[in-house]
Amino acid sequence: RSRPVTITITGAGGQIGYALLFRIASGALLGPDTAVRLNLLEIPQGLRAAEGAALELQDSAFPLLAHVEVTADPAVAFEGANAALLVGARPRTAGMERGDLLEANGGIFGPQGRAINDHAADDVRVVVVGNPANTNALIAASHAPDVPNERFTALTRLDHNRALGQLAAAVSTPVGGIRGVTIWGNHSATQFPDVAHATADGDPVPALLAARLGGTDAAHEWLADHFIPRVARRGAEIIEVRGSSSVASAASATIDHMRNWMLGTGERGRTSAAIWSNGEYGVAEGVISSFPVVAEGGAWSVVEGLGVDAFARERIDASVAELVDEREAVRALGLI
Ligand code: NDP
Repeated sequence: RSRPVTITITGAGGQIGYALLFRIASGALLGPDTAVRLNLLEIPQGLRAAEGAALELQDSAFPLLAHVEVTADPAVAFEGANAALLVGARPRTAGMERGDLLEANGGIFGPQGRAINDHAADDVRVVVVGNPANTNALIAASHAPDVPNERFTALTRLDHNRALGQLAAAVSTPVGGIRGVTIWGNHSATQFPDVAHATADGDPVPALLAARLGGTDAAHEWLADHFIPRVARRGAEIIEVRGSSSVASAASATIDHMRNWMLGTGERGRTSAAIWSNGEYGVAEGVISSFPVVAEGGAWSVVEGLGVDAFARERIDASVAELVDEREAVRALGLI
């Protein structure tokens, strides 16, 4: 058996952490033949919760789980990390301005980027879940000059999966038959879930929607007024219905993102991930934006050549403008 893969999870004592740990330890991330070491990072007040989760991991007797480390020291947590799932973040509290939120998170993701730079394995891959995820990833990347920017990503897979779920229901197809959906831009209310190139069991989704809803105008209206806002605001809907935030689906999407990145997207093909922009599709360079992507050989690449109509252009530009604003704000605060 090969050497265990080291996976660092920050905020591991929190809710998403609790939903992630057991699935990773059971092999959901890297498959049934790869052992894992889990390094759980917490702030001091979260340590007991992480220690408790570690006890339960022990009690689960996962054959693939080689070791669990619980620590409040980023240098220890990121030592030899092959994958880093940055979940812990400073939540927005009542009365907090956006600048305060960015600054509080700069205090978390700057030092974590530095610790990744100094201690992680050469092949480290980072996904940021904690919000504002795209800009937190940018902050971490800017503190890790020795790690290629492409290794810092942010999660939009939950948005992607939400879009798949909504479309599957709308065209009455099992979700596995839906392909070619894209989330563009920021993981925020401005994100653009794009179905222009989506198919359901090989049939174009826009035509299927038009047939079901009574024409292309009706389909367009449904997309603009129902589908897009529902995907973007699904987190709030879950809180309202469940009484607490989406945790299991966020953890599941995080695993999907890392598994695809490390093992490849394979025959299911395209998905969405927020990755370093090199200016593809006119997206500003040097922001971490969601794109249509595939992964092969351990690297994401943007799927190029998709048509972008005026409606899509406007939405993509608006979300990217928000990313640029966030970048300017953290730059002004000296965080990047
Ligand atoms: P959760 O585990 O529920 O969420 C963690 C982060 O994920 C939040 O920033 C949250 O953003 C974000 N997130 C992204 N997508 C989703 C989604 N779909 N649904 C819900 N959240 C989403 O938070 P907890 O408060 O339970 O746990 C956070 C833990 O992190 C705590 O134990 C805390 O001690 C720890 N922490 C650790 C740090 C570290 O390791 N250095 C630093 C800071 C905190 P949003 O706030 O927008 O919902």
